[in-house]
Amino acid sequence: MNAKINNVNVSKTDIRTTCCYCGVGCGVKACVTNNEITAVKGDVSHPANYGRLCVKGSALHEAHHSVDRLLQPVVNGKETDWQTALSYSAGKFKKIVDQYGPDSVAFYLSGQLLTEDYYVANKLIKGFIGTANIDTNSRLCMASAVLAHKRAFGGDLVPGCYEDLEICDLLILVGSNMAYAHPVTYQRIAKAKQDRPHMKVVVIDPRKTATADIADIHLPLKPGADAFFFNGLLSFLAENNGLDKAFISNYCDNFDSTLAQAQSQVPSVQQAADFCEVLQEDLHRVYQLFLTCTKTVTVFSQGVNQSSSGVDKGSAIINCHLASGKIGKPGAAPFSITGQPNAMGGREVGGLANQLAAHMGYANPAHIDTVEQFWQAPNMARKEGKKAVDMFQAIYDGEIKAVWIMATNPVVSMPDANFARRALQKCEHVVVSECIGNTDTAQQADVLLPASTWGEKYGTVTNSERCISLQKNLVQAPGQAKHDWQIICEFARHLGFGDAFDYTHPVEIFREHAALSGEKNQRSRGFDISYLQDISKEDYENFQPCQWPLNKDMPSGSSRLFQDGYFFTANRRAQFYPVKARLPKTPAASQQVMLNTGRIRDQWHTMSRTGNAAKLLSHVDEPFIEIHPQDATHFSLQEGALAELRNLDSRYIARVKYSNQQRRGEIFAPMHWNERFSSAGRANALISAVADPHSGQPEFKHCPVAIQAYLPRWQGLLYCLEDTALSTEFWVKIPLHKGLKYRIADTANRQDWPAWLKRQYSQIDDWVEFVDSSGHFYRVAGFIAGALSVYFSLQQGCAPQESRWIEQLFTSVCDAKQRIDILAGKEGAAEEDLGGVICSCFQVPEKTIIDAIHSGCDSTVSLGEKLKCGTNCGSCLPEINTLISNNASLQVN
Ligand code: SF4
Repeated sequence: MNAKINNVNVSKTDIRTTCCYCGVGCGVKACVTNNEITAVKGDVSHPANYGRLCVKGSALHEAHHSVDRLLQPVVNGKETDWQTALSYSAGKFKKIVDQYGPDSVAFYLSGQLLTEDYYVANKLIKGFIGTANIDTNSRLCMASAVLAHKRAFGGDLVPGCYEDLEICDLLILVGSNMAYAHPVTYQRIAKAKQDRPHMKVVVIDPRKTATADIADIHLPLKPGADAFFFNGLLSFLAENNGLDKAFISNYCDNFDSTLAQAQSQVPSVQQAADFCEVLQEDLHRVYQLFLTCTKTVTVFSQGVNQSSSGVDKGSAIINCHLASGKIGKPGAAPFSITGQPNAMGGREVGGLANQLAAHMGYANPAHIDTVEQFWQAPNMARKEGKKAVDMFQAIYDGEIKAVWIMATNPVVSMPDANFARRALQKCEHVVVSECIGNTDTAQQADVLLPASTWGEKYGTVTNSERCISLQKNLVQAPGQAKHDWQIICEFARHLGFGDAFDYTHPVEIFREHAALSGEKNQRSRGFDISYLQDISKEDYENFQPCQWPLNKDMPSGSSRLFQDGYFFTANRRAQFYPVKARLPKTPAASQQVMLNTGRIRDQWHTMSRTGNAAKLLSHVDEPFIEIHPQDATHFSLQEGALAELRNLDSRYIARVKYSNQQRRGEIFAPMHWNERFSSAGRANALISAVADPHSGQPEFKHCPVAIQAYLPRWQGLLYCLEDTALSTEFWVKIPLHKGLKYRIADTANRQDWPAWLKRQYSQIDDWVEFVDSSGHFYRVAGFIAGALSVYFSLQQGCAPQESRWIEQLFTSVCDAKQRIDILAGKEGAAEEDLGGVICSCFQVPEKTIIDAIHSGCDSTVSLGEKLKCGTNCGSCLPEINTLISNNASLQVN
């Protein structure tokens, strides 16, 4: 559509695309105006979300505008052109491979990449460079589920679909804070439960997270005890006539040994309850529900996967579904939900060190030959490569001398993240292709390559229910940024492999990927999209979401697998796997607690996309340590005060948050913060690199750390217009709608702030100061042409009070009274603290909602009518429900 606004020609288009954040894979309709994404809404025709979007999805267009975009290739700190950068880097790779062999180089990828990007990266390194040293941040997310699927089904196959989560009678969520990590799927479940009140939801999680808001039963089991729970369930099913003996005998192997193992370890409900440290009565109710509900789905996620025994936990879950025949039917399946938008696509193309393309594997020499011949590969890698943790160890040891990191930030996301940084510092040649130029990882790069990002990229992704969708290019990439597949293909040309990488459009890569999935398949592999191998460019550009398999027998795809009892193992029968449940390590010292790291509602991964969107920081704006109040008392920690965690060589400083929903002895910290936004907020740097021996997935949910109060001599608050380099022990940066806010603290005395400020903001010559001669506090404001441009407040011991009024005044011209009020810290010294923002979409703070509850609003509907909170994306509804139940008794009638 073209229109004229204020005599300027404006072109406006609505384009269908897919969200780039989580594994739900929601369809999005984006409004593009003059090469700018101006608005997004949910695509009502997309089967993942039917029009819904969560708060992150609703802010896609805001997060797209990043001031930190990498616009030009950089070699050794100097901007250059593509030809120079690629020829330099390819030359380095070639020299190292020639001298030390192909295993001396590696690629480290991301579930953010599109399938076409992933395909060419995997093809280049495994088929042409000659090593399987390619792994991805998906290793940190769902590698354990992949192996559990392969053990049981003969392939990495998710049996069910999102609809199963709505139509089942019993939904068990294990280790999944779906309300925060997969919000739209959570909303679908909440709606289904509202429509079908007999549907039961059980949440199994050591923490009582927001997801438990819809739970009929929450089991706060002992961390890591999941396999004990499911082994106990298997024993219970056998004892209580809950086995589907016909299904077991017709379609499965290894049942007797699996049951014997479970019974020998967890023979009774009492023992299961003891192992899991939950009430026997609650556990028995869950077992009874599983026994009686034919339509049962068990969803498992990072709480299961991110464990030193994650594969066994996944197997224990699948064993119970196979034993009771609750698989391959509507509303009955084990369901692993993935964290990233294209973790599934990465698995399809074999973008992990222990996989080959198209769900083929290194354990089968015929598969290696098939891929080699299909690619006409001159240097086919014939053995598995190094998984993430081992890869960074090999980089540190000098065994891997060149690494190319694409679209991910391991210096923040890897366990023992400081070690990952040291490994990169020691590495001879580090290439980082990224859209953001100053990530913690980008700072370690010898070569930086500017990549396009969501809204600019073009290609396919596969979500958690095997549904392939298109991510469309909405606007042109800025500067010299290129698409990842283009960068990889040009790099391949520089290595001398141009003929095999001469793609001109992503559809050509997709066709090849689809064809390989059907190559010598004959129903031996579940992943088969060969029906799409001749897809036209037009059909690709108008790609309609569809669930694989997609072959000549199933041209429309299939929502559910195994409906006919056919599995993809060697003998086509499902395989039970005997699981010996075990617990992770426990704290060694009295000053230690168990750290669990995870996500918060409005941030994504290491904040490289979401961190600059002020709206997304209004819910939680800094790292925190969630701890049970009695533990806090034990460790002398105060709510809202700072505390520090230590492990390895790392120190994490954050504010204390009391929570009765934490188990005693355990704490939670968000994994998102990086060094662009905090001085000491990289939680994963505290996590020891202990991994599952089978999947290589690290244990992020359970690491002993030391905890103590952090007692700063002073704390401060700084508002400014641009990034400011601070050297204080503690600082966090919070982007606002206008300017930035920093909270700072230090244990060292420091008298030089006035001079520092004047040096730092030398463009300001209009300062007003308030100095307390006793030295307890100091306030100063700087103005440019009368407009408030810097505000700094310092206080001994505790944090200076913050003021929304000053935030709103920022960059405005101030009169004499306002200048005095600024030095007072707030307008008229009578500003009310409204608490944190609960509803990010409409910026409704906690206190406003509580006041409305006290005045008679007793439901999310009445609150929505009064305040609009919860009426857009709905991501805040669990928290609003908690506020209602905590405050309803205080209502004024
Ligand atoms: Fe994006 Fe939210 Fe949908 Fe996930 S649930 S795909 S983050 S809109």
